[in-house]
Amino acid sequence: MNNQHVMNTYNRFDIVLDHGEGTWVYDSKGEKYLDFVSGIAVNCLGHCHPAVIQAIGEQSKKLMHVSNLYWTENMMEFATGLAEASGLDKIFFNNSGTEANETALKIARKYGKVKGGNEKSTIIYMKESFHGRSMGALSVTGQEKYQEAFKPLIGGTCEAVFNDIESVRKVMDKNVCAVILEPVQGESGVLPATPEFLAEVRSLCDEYDALLIFDEVQCGMGRSGKMFAFQKLGTSPDILTTAKAIAAGFPMGAVMANNRAADHFVPGDHGCTFGGNPLGCAIGLTVLDQLLNKGVLQNVEDMNTYLMGKLNELKDKYDVIEDVRGIGLLIGVQFATGKKDTVAKYCKDNKLLLVGAGHEVIRFLPPLNVTIEEIDIALKIFEAAISK
Ligand SMILES: *Cc1c(COP(=O)(O)O)cnc(C)c1O
Repeated sequence: MNNQHVMNTYNRFDIVLDHGEGTWVYDSKGEKYLDFVSGIAVNCLGHCHPAVIQAIGEQSKKLMHVSNLYWTENMMEFATGLAEASGLDKIFFNNSGTEANETALKIARKYGKVKGGNEKSTIIYMKESFHGRSMGALSVTGQEKYQEAFKPLIGGTCEAVFNDIESVRKVMDKNVCAVILEPVQGESGVLPATPEFLAEVRSLCDEYDALLIFDEVQCGMGRSGKMFAFQKLGTSPDILTTAKAIAAGFPMGAVMANNRAADHFVPGDHGCTFGGNPLGCAIGLTVLDQLLNKGVLQNVEDMNTYLMGKLNELKDKYDVIEDVRGIGLLIGVQFATGKKDTVAKYCKDNKLLLVGAGHEVIRFLPPLNVTIEEIDIALKIFEAAISK
């Protein structure tokens, strides 16, 4: 499968997907796959969820886009919903995780400038992090393989080690305006922060008047079993970014901030043409309703218990599995070196879609409304791949 007009930036599997329903997707030949990738943690309600279809249908007949020169009810309502869900004060909408992180970095730089002048501009980020591919987000993505070809990156950044508070303390000073980190590192292999580490970073940020930014683009919006992973880990940020699952597959991102951080942003500082359009917000409101009022968050907890239990049984049975870890339905299985691609390929050939991550990890990212029956089907294929 190839197309000479599509830029060569992804190693794609050799299938053309055509349509989906719930946890299943179908390719153009009619083959059926169990989708435990969910567009990489995006399709939180599965494919073609009736409530999402209804929201799109109704809103698209009413109003799809207006400029941010005007208000819409949907935008105001969704902002209120996210503020209530996160405990933060103000929301800025955009179109992706990368953009949400760019916005967070700009809020941090403005905050630093107001509080400490031009010197207060350093942003601390973590080794092995992933925050996106734009020049700003890439500059705080601690992975040489993504950065190398694009240097020079933006200046004023500084690297620390995830879950190692001494490494943060070493680079923290009065010129730091923010620390950015993922409460659960996703792309680099499903690595949760320890509650102690987050609490200690929080108190260092308070001591030096720096903002704490949590990137919950992947682990947020219910994937952890709470609306946001930080609510499980016990430490609140000043700025929270999310995207992927926020509108169940419609492109959208959001930055949430407390007043301390947000109040320095004034008209002219930032903008986004498509951000907070009424169609995206109608879908976002549907996602919030499903997560909070239709039992989806509880399902994440229940399915976590079931799936983690079964994966740990496989770990005891097969030496190639070195670790099983995660939170909610963001679960990583770590393999012995060189096995993960073979396992993912075997699973795909046997109609189960899984996605890799760094450090020899395969991720399980089913939709948040996945059933036990679907998990059992996935586990059967997965175990066959491992024993093979
Ligand atoms: C996917 C991801 C991003 C980038 O989001 P895009 O929507 O692809 O721009 C940023 N941070 C984290 C933690 C992610 O998982």
